[in-house]
Amino acid sequence: IEQTAFQNDKLAMLGKIAAAIAHEIRNPLTSIRGFIQLLSPYLKEIGKQDYARIILSEIDRANDIIYEFLNSSKPSAPMKQTVLVGLLIKETILLLESEAHMKGCELHCEIFDPYVTIGIDVKQIKQVLLNIMKNAMEAIEETGDGRRGRIDISARREGRYALISIRDNGKGMERTTLNRLFDPFFTTKDDGTGLGLSVSYRIINNHGGIIHVDSVPNEGTEFMIYLPYTDIKE
Ligand code: ADP
Ligand code: MG
Repeated sequence: IEQTAFQNDKLAMLGKIAAAIAHEIRNPLTSIRGFIQLLSPYLKEIGKQDYARIILSEIDRANDIIYEFLNSSKPSAPMKQTVLVGLLIKETILLLESEAHMKGCELHCEIFDPYVTIGIDVKQIKQVLLNIMKNAMEAIEETGDGRRGRIDISARREGRYALISIRDNGKGMERTTLNRLFDPFFTTKDDGTGLGLSVSYRIINNHGGIIHVDSVPNEGTEFMIYLPYTDIKE
């Protein structure tokens, strides 16, 4: 799946606008949030406590969108560091372990070539892995059939690349979704931003890597991230 120049321009422009106004919007949001919390007991008195909850979650959503915009403005110049792929993956999994556990989702990790190193911006690539793993958990939740969720993360060397695979047994995707997967703002979720994958795509692209997706509706999805391999001697 190719991301067009147009999509990249759109993201770059969004990033600039976001950086300029995020600050201006965040401050009022923070005060709105505070005042709603103060009003919450009164809303409860008149049986409208739901309103406070909705307002708060919508404010949080607006904040998430701003945060993701800001992120999308950054990936222009990766700050590269040489790291072991296995370590990178294990550190990332640690960040999600408790959330996965709460959702009844198993995380399995298999590192086939433990000494594969890559030159990456660790923060950015962790963000990509987190975006994809979060989507995987959400895809499992969304099946709603109480299936035992399972996410398999593996890494191995594949030609010039280190291949990181993230596979879930969630709801999978139809062709129509697959076609638009990396479009900024494309989401099928009520509370989605549709930015996670477009930003991830750009980050991987900036690293000289490739993202590949395989998906079967109602069976699951596999994201394959190829990042250029660097030899440990380099
Ligand atoms: P968001 O998560 O905010 O919706 P993303 O860019 O992260 O935005 O993902 C875009 C869309 O791609 C999601 O709304 C979902 O429809 C689809 N998607 C992404 N990952 C998966 C997955 N592992 N399984 C099924 N659908 C997925
Ligand atoms: Mg997402």
